[in-house]
Amino acid sequence: MTGTLIASTSTDETHLPVPPDGQHRRIANMRHLIHRYLDQVIDSGTSLLGEYTRRLEQQLGERWGGHAVATSSGTESLHFSLRIAGIGPGDEVIVPDMTFVSTAFAVNAAHATPVFVDVEPDTWLISPDAIRKAITPKTKAIIPVHLYGQVAEMDEIMAIAEEHGLVVIEDCAQAHDATYKGKPAGSFGDFGCFSMWVGKNVGGLDDGGFVIVKDEQNLQAMQRMHNLGRDRTIRYLHHSWGSRARLSELNAAILSHQITMLPEWNEQRRLIATTYDKAFAGLPLATPTVLPDREHVFYKYTVHTEHADALESHLKNRGISTERIYPYLLSEQPAFAHLPHRVEPTPVARANNAKLLCLPMYPELSYAEQQAVIAGVTSFFADHG
Ligand SMILES: *Cc1c(COP(=O)(O)O)cnc(C)c1O
Repeated sequence: MTGTLIASTSTDETHLPVPPDGQHRRIANMRHLIHRYLDQVIDSGTSLLGEYTRRLEQQLGERWGGHAVATSSGTESLHFSLRIAGIGPGDEVIVPDMTFVSTAFAVNAAHATPVFVDVEPDTWLISPDAIRKAITPKTKAIIPVHLYGQVAEMDEIMAIAEEHGLVVIEDCAQAHDATYKGKPAGSFGDFGCFSMWVGKNVGGLDDGGFVIVKDEQNLQAMQRMHNLGRDRTIRYLHHSWGSRARLSELNAAILSHQITMLPEWNEQRRLIATTYDKAFAGLPLATPTVLPDREHVFYKYTVHTEHADALESHLKNRGISTERIYPYLLSEQPAFAHLPHRVEPTPVARANNAKLLCLPMYPELSYAEQQAVIAGVTSFFADHG
């Protein structure tokens, strides 16, 4: 049945090579708007913490049901949340072994010890059982990662946290608008940390991030911490330690616009996922598992196959780029040969991370390109079925 899908690579909608992500296309599409925002920011006379940042923070807070602080990155959002939660030397923080390195680096930045735990088969989300087994008297926090755009098992994770008095800091870098039982990622834990790096589902011009907090006290602490420990109105009075980690006004203006596009963009990602799912049914590869109580936002569309390496080079030869997310587990990273950490057994992550391959997935991916991806995968399994 899939054999009848022929890629229409001859149409000018296909721009070979097909890139693994859509970040450059998205920025190029916004070129004229970005030029206009730049003029407006210049005319405003304020390049940091001005009207655009205020507007963006209001928009983010309303959307995610809390108070938002715009920051320079997802990495610093996690780091500051840990510090504000009082986590420091001697404390352990549980993170999944299969995630971007920032999830753990943030813990090291707070001078605490990350503890790497296993993930669930099929969804690759942090395993609640593995969290339970990793808890010691030193454990102070859990950072569940909503990997690839699907929310982790939050009811169970929140129950574990409550039982043991742990802080929950959600890593929502890949999960803008993803939901669990109708509630958005970032609304469960004490802190919801998002990235707005250029390659994420919402990503402005370069680096960026934000944090959702639940109360005024954490709001004030976060507003100070990303701004050298001072209030936004008094320039040389520093109340606490802080870093310089703000979002630029230009980026805030761009991101405000992108937030209004997010529902449409995520819908397009889900449509592409459905197209891929249908085309790959019957092939010997596992498509992403979407749990019934969740809405996935497909930051990545990740397939699982014994032949990941060969499929990757087959697609590469046809001008289609893919990604490995992540080629190395945290416990395999050279950085952690020198950094404090603890590793729990992670057999699921170890047995599977080399079998995961992310296919092109972004709203700017044309129909012809989707068909080219499908034809590439289908032709590969005609030889490797
Ligand atoms: C991107 C990402 C981060 C870090 O966000 P930056 O904005 O790049 O600093 C953290 N965790 C995960 C899971 C990510 O994908």
